[in-house]
Amino acid sequence: MSPQAVTDSGGWKQPLFDSLNRVEISRAALHYNFRFCRARAGDAAVMAMVKTDGYGHGLVECARIFAGEGAAAFGVAEVAEGIALREAGLEQPVFVLAGLLPGMIPALLQYNLTPVVVDRLILPELSRQAQRSGGEVGLHLKVDAGMGRQGCLPAAVPGLVREIEALPALRLDGIMAHFPMTDDLDPANTRQVFDRFTDMIQDLADDVDIVLTGCCFHIANSGGLLRYSMTRLDMVRPGIALYGYYPEGEPGRTGAGPEALQPAMRFVTRIIQVRNVPAGTALGYGRTFTTGRATTLAVLPVGYANGYLRSLSNRAEVLVCGQRAPVVGRVSMNLTLVDVTDVEGPVEWGGEAVLLGRQGDETITADELASWMDTISYEVLCLFGNLNRRYYLD
Ligand SMILES: *Cc1c(COP(=O)(O)O)cnc(C)c1O
Repeated sequence: MSPQAVTDSGGWKQPLFDSLNRVEISRAALHYNFRFCRARAGDAAVMAMVKTDGYGHGLVECARIFAGEGAAAFGVAEVAEGIALREAGLEQPVFVLAGLLPGMIPALLQYNLTPVVVDRLILPELSRQAQRSGGEVGLHLKVDAGMGRQGCLPAAVPGLVREIEALPALRLDGIMAHFPMTDDLDPANTRQVFDRFTDMIQDLADDVDIVLTGCCFHIANSGGLLRYSMTRLDMVRPGIALYGYYPEGEPGRTGAGPEALQPAMRFVTRIIQVRNVPAGTALGYGRTFTTGRATTLAVLPVGYANGYLRSLSNRAEVLVCGQRAPVVGRVSMNLTLVDVTDVEGPVEWGGEAVLLGRQGDETITADELASWMDTISYEVLCLFGNLNRRYYLD
C-alpha cells in the first residue's frame, strides 16, 4: 500500500460526487472522549490508538484531534499508517504494533517510527541499518503476558534485553503487554495477566546486569484504563473508548453514569424508493422473507459492500422518521429493504434513514449492530468507517 492510500477523507473511496451513504464523524465527541480518557489516566501518558484508520474514524483527522488534546504517542498497525501521520505533520512517537519485516526498516528509520519488537529476529538488521543511518533507535518490546498471541514469553525478556543492550544503535525504551479479557466483567484474568507483567518487571529490576532507567511500561487498553486503574503504569493505550464505546459493550454504558463516552460515528443513508407490495410477496435474493400483509417497503442503497453485512438480513433495525423499522429479506451488495408499514410517516423518497446513531428520540448503537452481526462494536466501526465516505462535523 502506498502511503498516499491512507487518507483522512474516506479511505479508498474518493468519489467525484457525494455518496448516498454518509458516515458522519463528530469531532466534538472525539475531543470529549480523549479528555474523558486523559482524566482517568492520572499521571500516565496517553498513546491514542489510531490503527485501522482510527477504527474507521479517519487516521489523520483523529490523530490531529488527539494531538491537540495532549496525546503523547500514537499506535498504528503498519508502517504505512505511520508514514501517513508523519506526512500530515504529526511529530509524536508513532508505535508500529502489528509487525515488522526487514524490508520495512528503511522507512521505519526515515520516518522516525517506533518499532515494537516481538522476538530477536529483527534486532541485528535493525541495529545495522540504524548504525548506517547514524542514529539510535528506541524500541519497545512486546511481551505475551497472557494474551497468547504476539510477542515473547516473560522468560525470554532478560535475554532479549541483554541482546538489545549489546547491539549498537539500539535502545530499549519500553516494555509492553496486552490484555485479552478486559471486556469481561470478571476481573480474574486481568489481575492474573497484570501480575505476570509486573512480576516480570520486578525480575528485571532485581537483575543486577540490567539497567531499566527511562524504560516505559505499558499494558492498559480501554478496558484496563476505565475499569482497572492500577494497570495504568507509565502509559495507557485506549482505542475503542476514544471512539465512544465501552469494550464490554452495553454493560459498560449502562453503568457509566451521565458523563459517559460519546459515540462519534453516525451512518446515514437515503431512501431511494418507497413501494407497496401485497401480502405473499417474497423479498430479495433467496426469497428469505415473505410478506404476511400488504407491506410498505423503503429501499435503501446500502449493502454488504458498505459494511452493512449480509448477516443483518431479517435481523437488523433501521431508523426511519425517528422510529425503528425492521430489515426484511437479504441484505444484498448495494441494496437493503426495510418494512416501514408501521412507521408514522410520511416516509418519503429521498428521506434519510439512519443505520447507526441517533434520529429523533431513537438511537441504534454499534453494540446493538454488533449483536445482530454476531461481533463487537470495533468491527462495526471499522467496516462502516472504512467502506464509506466520511464527513466530519464540528
Ligand atoms: C488495539 C490495541 C489497543 C486498544 O484496545 P482497545 O480495546 O480498543 O482500547 C491497545 N493495545 C494494543 C497493543 C492494541 O493492539
